[in-house]
Formats: sequence, structure tokens, C-alpha cells
Amino acid sequence: DTVYLNGEYLPLADAKVSVLDRGFLFGDGVYEVIPVYAGRLFRFEDHVVRLNNSLSGIRLDLIKSAAEWQAIFQPMLDSSKDQYIYLQITRGYAPKRDHGFPEPIVPTVFAMCSDIKPFAGRVSGVKAVTLDDTRWQMCHIKATALLAHLLLRQEALDQDCAEAILVKNGYVTEGAASNLFVVIDDELITPSKSNEILPGITRDVILELAKTNQIPYREDVIALEALENASEIWVTSSTREIVPVIELDGKMVGIGKPGPVYQKMDQVFQAYKQSLA
Ligand code: PMP
Repeated sequence: DTVYLNGEYLPLADAKVSVLDRGFLFGDGVYEVIPVYAGRLFRFEDHVVRLNNSLSGIRLDLIKSAAEWQAIFQPMLDSSKDQYIYLQITRGYAPKRDHGFPEPIVPTVFAMCSDIKPFAGRVSGVKAVTLDDTRWQMCHIKATALLAHLLLRQEALDQDCAEAILVKNGYVTEGAASNLFVVIDDELITPSKSNEILPGITRDVILELAKTNQIPYREDVIALEALENASEIWVTSSTREIVPVIELDGKMVGIGKPGPVYQKMDQVFQAYKQSLA
């Protein structure tokens, strides 16, 4: 259980950060979650691009190349299994609690590696519930301030559901910790990238695979009412991959089982992962 903290490798239990760290006091930081399949970082360049966008989105100056990040992660990786890296960067320690940025800024950089546990719902399908999207207007930033996301996910769990599907002004945006895809009239549809969603790496991969496998798709708005006409609904993320939603708000989606477009996409997604290993 070796983790990385500010240039050092140390046991998890010894990794300590000041209570004055702005990550602790304000949630003033960003993060990334990067799958590592058999020692290979998945779509690593894409994750680094998104990280840099998040950092500049919160005006935190810390630029490292993909190679520099990889060198930091390498000692924690075990090529005999599937893992994911959690990387968090905060605006660091400041001598007093003040909203304004400190001077100088010394970011806190923390990384740890965990095993990927296959998510059972990926095969069986899950239940989901629609909830009002109560989050802020900069959801494209992967910010550590996740309070709205946590409350939404917990509300879903309290209703015996695996995920919350979020609704803003009558349109669905994404899941509380995932992107959203629907199949309507045999076409795969996902909301376009905007400040209202996190640009998921899994989402990008799925769109590329739809293209190369001649699965009709489009990026477009999805009205809440349109979900009733969806033969399939999926939620996607790095750690869970593609998860079919078989029941939404207590009503069966399609035939109430993972659908044919999901089956096809999951198959090509798994093959794509294998091809990179
Ligand atoms: N949206 C939100 C709000 C998320 O937290 C996540 C990641 N858990 C995603 C989408 C999916 O992104 P990715 O495919 O890069 O994991």
C-alpha cells in the first residue's frame, strides 16, 4: 500500500496532509481516475489532457508531461492485475484560512493505486432514478468538491438504485458519477460535451467504437420524456465501464434486460481493451 505524496513514496498510513490544506478546507482541487490494465495506462494522453483542462479551469498552475506523470505512477503499478490510479492535486497548504489564493501556491500532489473490482451491474444491469441536477455550472472540471454528486448518488442508493440520472431544465445531462447513453430507434445518443457534463474518457472511446463498428450514433440533447422511448439506457465510467440501466424510476427500460446494442458495444469495448494490452 505505497502511495505518492509530494515527491515521496510512503505507506498509506504515513501519508499526511495539513488540516490547513485547501483541499481539506475548501475542496480546492482537481483529480483524475486512470485505469491501468495489466500495467498499461488506458487512454493516458486523454486523461492528461483532461487533467490539464481541470487545472487551468481552477487556475492552478502545475504542468507535467504525460511521461513525467507516468514516471510518478510507475513504482505503484503491478502488471499482474487491473488497477486504477487516483490522482489528486489541491491548491495546497496556506498559513491561514482565506478564500483568496495564497502566495506562493505550493500544490499538494497525491496519487494512489487500487485494484479494479469488476462491477457486477455491468453484466446484469442496474436500477437508476432520475434526480434534479443540483450541481454547479462547471461540471466539465473534475473537481474534488463533490458534495452535490455525493448527495445525488446517496439519494439513488437510498432508493435501492445504483446511479442517479441527472435532469437540468427538462434535459438529462449525465449520471452522478458517469456519462449517459440512450438507444432510441436503433440510434445511440449521448449529450454533447458542454460545461454541464464531465467529458468522460469512456464516453470518447464508445463514440469512436460506434463509428468504427457502424453503430449509428449522434451527440445531441436528450429530453427527459425521450427516456420513455429509449430501448436502452447506459451509464459509463472508467471504473465500471458500460453499465446497462434496466429499470428507471421503477419502470422497465426496453425489455428490462441489457439490450442488443449494449451487448455489441460491451463486446467491442472489451476487445479494444485487450488490443491495447
Ligand atoms: N461524469 C461524472 C460526473 C463522473 O464523475 C465520471 C467519472 N466517474 C464520468 C462522467 C465518467 O468519466 P470517465 O469515463 O472518464 O471515468
